[in-house]
Amino acid sequence: ARQFTRPLNDLANQFNTMLSAVAGAERVFDLMDQEGECDDSEKAVSLATVRGEVCFQNVSFSYQKEDSGKTVSDIHFSVSPGETIALVGPTGAGKTTILQLLARFYEVDDGTISIDRHDTQRLKLANLRQHIGFVLQDTFLFEATIRENIRYGRLNATDQDIEEAARLANAHSFISQLPDQYDTLLKEGGRGISEGQKQLLAIARVILANPAILVLDEATSSIDTLTEINIQQALATLMKGRTSFIIAHRLQTIEKADRILVLQHGRIVQQGTHQALLQQDGLYRELFQKAATETG
Ligand code: ADP
Repeated sequence: ARQFTRPLNDLANQFNTMLSAVAGAERVFDLMDQEGECDDSEKAVSLATVRGEVCFQNVSFSYQKEDSGKTVSDIHFSVSPGETIALVGPTGAGKTTILQLLARFYEVDDGTISIDRHDTQRLKLANLRQHIGFVLQDTFLFEATIRENIRYGRLNATDQDIEEAARLANAHSFISQLPDQYDTLLKEGGRGISEGQKQLLAIARVILANPAILVLDEATSSIDTLTEINIQQALATLMKGRTSFIIAHRLQTIEKADRILVLQHGRIVQQGTHQALLQQDGLYRELFQKAATETG
Protein backbone atom coordinates (compact mmCIF):
# COMPACT_ATOMS: atom_id res chain seq x y z
CA ALA A 1 0.00 0.00 0.00
CA ARG A 2 2.95 2.29 0.63
CA GLN A 3 3.76 2.27 -3.06
CA PHE A 4 0.47 3.94 -3.78
CA THR A 5 1.59 7.17 -2.29
CA ARG A 6 4.83 7.33 -4.22
CA PRO A 7 3.61 9.33 -7.24
CA LEU A 8 1.69 11.59 -4.89
CA ASN A 9 4.68 12.10 -2.66
CA ASP A 10 6.74 13.03 -5.69
CA LEU A 11 4.13 15.64 -6.53
CA ALA A 12 4.17 16.90 -2.97
CA ASN A 13 7.95 17.24 -3.07
CA GLN A 14 7.72 19.21 -6.27
CA PHE A 15 5.15 21.45 -4.63
CA ASN A 16 7.35 22.01 -1.64
CA THR A 17 10.29 22.97 -3.77
CA MET A 18 8.15 25.39 -5.68
CA LEU A 19 6.49 26.73 -2.57
CA SER A 20 9.80 28.00 -1.35
CA ALA A 21 10.60 29.50 -4.75
CA VAL A 22 7.30 31.14 -5.61
CA ALA A 23 5.15 33.36 -3.46
CA GLY A 24 1.49 32.41 -3.25
CA ALA A 25 0.30 28.84 -3.37
CA GLU A 26 -2.15 29.39 -6.21
CA ARG A 27 0.59 30.08 -8.71
CA VAL A 28 2.24 26.84 -7.72
CA PHE A 29 -0.92 24.88 -8.40
CA ASP A 30 -1.30 26.63 -11.75
CA LEU A 31 2.15 25.41 -12.69
CA MET A 32 1.19 21.90 -11.64
CA ASP A 33 -1.93 21.94 -13.81
CA GLN A 34 0.06 22.98 -16.81
CA GLU A 35 2.46 20.12 -16.26
CA GLY A 36 -0.40 17.65 -16.15
CA GLU A 37 -1.70 18.86 -19.47
CA CYS A 38 1.49 17.83 -21.23
CA ASP A 39 0.15 14.28 -21.08
CA ASP A 40 -3.17 15.10 -22.72
CA SER A 41 -3.94 14.33 -26.32
CA GLU A 42 -5.34 17.17 -28.40
CA LYS A 43 -8.76 15.59 -28.33
CA ALA A 44 -8.88 15.21 -24.54
CA VAL A 45 -12.16 16.33 -23.00
CA SER A 46 -13.23 17.53 -19.56
CA LEU A 47 -16.30 16.37 -17.65
CA ALA A 48 -17.88 19.12 -15.58
CA THR A 49 -19.75 16.72 -13.31
CA VAL A 50 -19.56 13.00 -12.77
CA ARG A 51 -22.11 10.55 -11.31
CA GLY A 52 -19.47 8.03 -10.33
CA GLU A 53 -20.15 4.99 -12.49
CA VAL A 54 -16.84 3.15 -12.91
CA CYS A 55 -16.18 0.37 -15.35
CA PHE A 56 -13.05 -1.74 -15.83
CA GLN A 57 -13.15 -3.82 -19.01
CA ASN A 58 -10.50 -6.53 -19.45
CA VAL A 59 -7.77 -4.34 -18.02
CA SER A 60 -4.21 -5.65 -17.99
CA PHE A 61 -1.05 -3.91 -16.96
CA SER A 62 2.54 -4.61 -16.02
CA TYR A 63 5.22 -2.34 -14.62
CA GLN A 64 7.95 -4.18 -16.49
CA LYS A 65 7.12 -4.15 -20.17
CA GLU A 66 9.90 -6.47 -21.25
CA ASP A 67 9.01 -9.61 -19.30
CA SER A 68 5.81 -11.50 -20.04
CA GLY A 69 4.20 -11.56 -16.58
CA LYS A 70 1.36 -9.13 -15.99
CA THR A 71 1.00 -7.26 -12.70
CA VAL A 72 -2.78 -7.28 -13.15
CA SER A 73 -4.72 -9.26 -15.77
CA ASP A 74 -8.27 -9.29 -17.09
CA ILE A 75 -9.64 -6.96 -14.47
CA HIS A 76 -13.33 -6.69 -15.23
CA PHE A 77 -16.00 -5.14 -13.03
CA SER A 78 -18.46 -2.28 -12.99
CA VAL A 79 -19.60 -0.12 -10.16
CA SER A 80 -22.77 1.95 -9.86
CA PRO A 81 -22.68 5.50 -8.54
CA GLY A 82 -22.47 5.54 -4.75
CA GLU A 83 -21.37 1.93 -4.31
CA THR A 84 -18.66 0.99 -1.82
CA ILE A 85 -16.14 -1.53 -3.09
CA ALA A 86 -13.58 -3.14 -0.80
CA LEU A 87 -10.42 -4.56 -2.34
CA VAL A 88 -8.87 -7.37 -0.36
CA GLY A 89 -6.11 -9.90 -0.95
CA PRO A 90 -2.54 -10.65 0.02
CA THR A 91 0.21 -8.05 -0.23
CA GLY A 92 1.35 -7.72 -3.82
CA ALA A 93 -1.98 -8.99 -5.23
CA GLY A 94 -2.48 -5.79 -7.25
CA LYS A 95 -5.01 -3.77 -5.22
CA THR A 96 -2.95 -0.59 -5.25
CA THR A 97 -2.07 -0.97 -8.91
CA ILE A 98 -5.75 -1.16 -9.90
CA LEU A 99 -6.54 2.09 -8.13
CA GLN A 100 -3.45 3.79 -9.54
CA LEU A 101 -4.67 2.82 -13.01
CA LEU A 102 -8.06 4.36 -12.25
CA ALA A 103 -6.38 7.71 -11.56
CA ARG A 104 -3.98 7.16 -14.48
CA PHE A 105 -0.77 7.26 -12.51
CA TYR A 106 0.03 4.54 -15.03
CA GLU A 107 -1.65 3.81 -18.36
CA VAL A 108 -3.28 0.42 -19.00
CA ASP A 109 -1.62 -1.96 -21.48
CA ASP A 110 -4.94 -3.49 -22.53
CA GLY A 111 -8.61 -2.87 -21.89
CA THR A 112 -10.40 0.28 -20.86
CA ILE A 113 -11.36 2.06 -17.70
CA SER A 114 -14.35 4.35 -17.97
CA ILE A 115 -16.14 6.81 -15.74
CA ASP A 116 -19.78 7.50 -16.60
CA ARG A 117 -19.12 5.64 -19.89
CA HIS A 118 -16.22 7.95 -20.84
CA ASP A 119 -12.90 6.24 -21.44
CA THR A 120 -10.55 7.82 -18.91
CA GLN A 121 -7.79 7.93 -21.52
CA ARG A 122 -9.84 10.51 -23.37
CA LEU A 123 -10.17 12.78 -20.34
CA LYS A 124 -7.79 15.57 -19.47
CA LEU A 125 -5.63 14.23 -16.69
CA ALA A 126 -6.25 17.17 -14.38
CA ASN A 127 -9.99 16.82 -14.99
CA LEU A 128 -9.95 13.08 -14.27
CA ARG A 129 -8.10 13.61 -10.98
CA GLN A 130 -10.49 16.37 -10.00
CA HIS A 131 -13.25 13.75 -9.85
CA ILE A 132 -11.26 11.35 -7.66
CA GLY A 133 -10.47 12.07 -4.01
CA PHE A 134 -7.70 10.28 -2.16
CA VAL A 135 -7.34 9.48 1.49
CA LEU A 136 -4.11 7.57 1.81
CA GLN A 137 -1.96 6.27 4.61
CA ASP A 138 0.68 8.87 3.98
CA THR A 139 -1.22 12.08 3.57
CA PHE A 140 0.86 14.62 1.74
CA LEU A 141 1.01 17.81 3.72
CA PHE A 142 2.81 20.90 2.60
CA GLU A 143 4.97 23.16 4.65
CA ALA A 144 2.14 25.64 5.03
CA THR A 145 -0.66 26.42 7.47
CA ILE A 146 -3.41 23.94 8.28
CA ARG A 147 -5.81 26.27 6.50
CA GLU A 148 -3.78 26.20 3.28
CA ASN A 149 -3.34 22.45 3.54
CA ILE A 150 -7.09 21.96 3.65
CA ARG A 151 -7.67 24.60 0.98
CA TYR A 152 -5.62 22.52 -1.42
CA GLY A 153 -8.85 20.51 -1.91
CA ARG A 154 -10.49 23.52 -3.57
CA LEU A 155 -8.36 26.59 -4.13
CA ASN A 156 -11.21 29.10 -4.22
CA ALA A 157 -12.69 27.90 -0.91
CA THR A 158 -13.36 30.58 1.69
CA ASP A 159 -12.11 30.33 5.27
CA GLN A 160 -15.68 29.50 6.23
CA ASP A 161 -15.82 26.62 3.70
CA ILE A 162 -12.56 25.33 5.16
CA GLU A 163 -13.86 25.38 8.71
CA GLU A 164 -17.08 23.69 7.65
CA ALA A 165 -15.13 20.91 5.91
CA ALA A 166 -12.92 20.54 8.98
CA ARG A 167 -16.00 20.19 11.20
CA LEU A 168 -17.50 17.51 8.93
CA ALA A 169 -14.15 15.72 9.02
CA ASN A 170 -14.03 15.82 12.85
CA ALA A 171 -10.81 17.81 12.55
CA HIS A 172 -12.11 21.09 13.93
CA SER A 173 -11.79 20.14 17.58
CA PHE A 174 -8.10 19.22 17.45
CA ILE A 175 -7.33 22.24 15.25
CA SER A 176 -9.07 24.52 17.75
CA GLN A 177 -6.85 23.24 20.52
CA LEU A 178 -3.64 24.24 18.74
CA PRO A 179 -2.22 27.62 19.79
CA ASP A 180 -2.47 29.06 16.28
CA GLN A 181 -5.52 27.01 15.28
CA TYR A 182 -6.07 27.15 11.50
CA ASP A 183 -2.95 29.30 11.15
CA THR A 184 -0.73 26.61 12.64
CA LEU A 185 2.25 26.14 10.37
CA LEU A 186 2.80 22.48 9.56
CA LYS A 187 6.27 21.17 9.09
CA GLU A 188 7.03 19.31 5.93
CA GLY A 189 5.23 15.96 5.92
CA GLY A 190 3.08 17.12 8.83
CA ARG A 191 5.61 16.45 11.57
CA GLY A 192 4.18 17.63 14.87
CA ILE A 193 0.68 16.25 14.43
CA SER A 194 -0.31 12.61 14.79
CA GLU A 195 -0.95 10.13 11.97
CA GLY A 196 -4.63 10.13 12.84
CA GLN A 197 -4.82 13.92 12.76
CA LYS A 198 -3.14 13.90 9.35
CA GLN A 199 -5.87 11.56 8.14
CA LEU A 200 -8.55 13.92 9.45
CA LEU A 201 -6.95 16.77 7.49
CA ALA A 202 -6.88 14.59 4.40
CA ILE A 203 -10.58 13.89 4.85
CA ALA A 204 -11.35 17.60 5.31
CA ARG A 205 -9.45 18.35 2.13
CA VAL A 206 -11.42 15.77 0.14
CA ILE A 207 -14.75 16.93 1.60
CA LEU A 208 -13.87 20.38 0.32
CA ALA A 209 -12.96 19.02 -3.11
CA ASN A 210 -16.29 17.15 -3.29
CA PRO A 211 -15.33 14.47 -5.84
CA ALA A 212 -17.77 11.76 -7.02
CA ILE A 213 -15.22 8.97 -6.59
CA LEU A 214 -13.03 8.13 -3.63
CA VAL A 215 -9.91 6.04 -3.23
CA LEU A 216 -9.25 5.13 0.38
CA ASP A 217 -6.34 3.25 1.79
CA GLU A 218 -7.27 2.19 5.26
CA ALA A 219 -4.62 2.90 7.86
CA THR A 220 -2.81 -0.07 9.32
CA SER A 221 -0.62 1.93 11.65
CA SER A 222 -1.72 2.23 15.25
CA ILE A 223 -4.00 5.13 15.87
CA ASP A 224 -5.50 5.87 19.28
CA THR A 225 -9.08 4.72 19.78
CA LEU A 226 -10.68 8.14 19.99
CA THR A 227 -9.03 9.37 16.79
CA GLU A 228 -9.90 6.08 15.12
CA ILE A 229 -13.57 6.63 15.99
CA ASN A 230 -13.32 10.19 14.63
CA ILE A 231 -11.78 8.88 11.41
CA GLN A 232 -14.42 6.20 10.91
CA GLN A 233 -17.19 8.72 11.49
CA ALA A 234 -15.61 11.27 9.15
CA LEU A 235 -15.12 8.64 6.46
CA ALA A 236 -18.78 7.65 6.71
CA THR A 237 -19.74 11.29 6.16
CA LEU A 238 -17.33 11.58 3.25
CA MET A 239 -18.45 8.36 1.55
CA LYS A 240 -22.14 9.20 1.61
CA GLY A 241 -23.36 9.43 -1.99
CA ARG A 242 -19.91 8.80 -3.50
CA THR A 243 -18.45 5.79 -5.28
CA SER A 244 -15.77 4.49 -2.94
CA PHE A 245 -12.90 2.08 -3.41
CA ILE A 246 -11.23 0.99 -0.20
CA ILE A 247 -8.08 -1.02 0.25
CA ALA A 248 -9.53 -2.47 3.37
CA HIS A 249 -7.85 -4.01 6.38
CA ARG A 250 -10.54 -3.77 9.04
CA LEU A 251 -13.14 -6.50 9.06
CA GLN A 252 -15.85 -3.99 9.91
CA THR A 253 -15.11 -1.99 6.77
CA ILE A 254 -15.11 -5.10 4.61
CA GLU A 255 -18.42 -6.32 6.07
CA LYS A 256 -20.07 -2.98 5.35
CA ALA A 257 -18.95 -2.83 1.70
CA ASP A 258 -21.57 -3.30 -1.00
CA ARG A 259 -19.15 -5.58 -2.77
CA ILE A 260 -15.75 -7.10 -2.15
CA LEU A 261 -13.22 -7.75 -4.88
CA VAL A 262 -10.83 -10.51 -3.83
CA LEU A 263 -7.48 -10.29 -5.58
CA GLN A 264 -4.70 -12.81 -5.95
CA HIS A 265 -1.71 -12.69 -8.30
CA GLY A 266 -3.19 -9.73 -10.18
CA ARG A 267 -6.57 -11.29 -10.85
CA ILE A 268 -10.01 -10.97 -9.33
CA VAL A 269 -10.57 -14.47 -7.99
CA GLN A 270 -13.85 -13.82 -6.18
CA GLN A 271 -16.36 -11.02 -5.79
CA GLY A 272 -19.49 -10.56 -3.76
CA THR A 273 -20.71 -9.50 -0.35
CA HIS A 274 -19.06 -10.64 2.86
CA GLN A 275 -21.90 -13.09 3.56
CA ALA A 276 -21.89 -14.53 0.05
CA LEU A 277 -18.12 -14.94 0.01
CA LEU A 278 -18.07 -16.68 3.37
CA GLN A 279 -20.36 -19.34 1.91
CA GLN A 280 -17.82 -20.12 -0.79
CA ASP A 281 -14.81 -22.35 -0.38
CA GLY A 282 -12.12 -19.94 -1.53
CA LEU A 283 -9.44 -17.39 -0.76
CA TYR A 284 -11.81 -15.01 1.02
CA ARG A 285 -12.80 -17.54 3.65
CA GLU A 286 -9.17 -18.49 4.06
CA LEU A 287 -8.13 -14.86 4.61
CA PHE A 288 -11.03 -14.31 6.96
CA GLN A 289 -10.17 -17.33 9.08
CA LYS A 290 -6.53 -16.29 9.20
CA ALA A 291 -7.46 -12.77 10.31
CA ALA A 292 -9.81 -14.19 12.94
CA THR A 293 -7.04 -16.37 14.43
CA GLU A 294 -4.56 -13.48 14.41
CA THR A 295 -6.83 -11.10 16.26
CA GLY A 296 -7.95 -13.88 18.63
P1 ADP B 1 -1.14 -4.67 -3.25
O1 ADP B 1 -1.65 -3.28 -3.20
O2 ADP B 1 -2.23 -5.68 -3.39
O3 ADP B 1 -0.23 -4.99 -2.10
P2 ADP B 1 0.44 -3.75 -5.51
O4 ADP B 1 -0.52 -3.30 -6.53
O5 ADP B 1 1.12 -2.72 -4.68
O6 ADP B 1 -0.25 -4.85 -4.58
O7 ADP B 1 1.59 -4.60 -6.21
C1 ADP B 1 1.34 -5.57 -7.21
C2 ADP B 1 2.68 -6.05 -7.75
O8 ADP B 1 3.31 -5.03 -8.50
C3 ADP B 1 3.67 -6.48 -6.67
O9 ADP B 1 4.37 -7.60 -7.14
C4 ADP B 1 4.57 -5.28 -6.55
O10 ADP B 1 5.85 -5.65 -6.14
C5 ADP B 1 4.60 -4.74 -7.98
N1 ADP B 1 4.79 -3.27 -8.03
C6 ADP B 1 4.08 -2.34 -7.37
N2 ADP B 1 4.50 -1.11 -7.66
C7 ADP B 1 5.52 -1.26 -8.54
C8 ADP B 1 6.37 -0.34 -9.25
N3 ADP B 1 6.24 0.97 -9.09
N4 ADP B 1 7.29 -0.88 -10.07
C9 ADP B 1 7.44 -2.20 -10.23
N5 ADP B 1 6.66 -3.10 -9.61
C10 ADP B 1 5.72 -2.65 -8.78
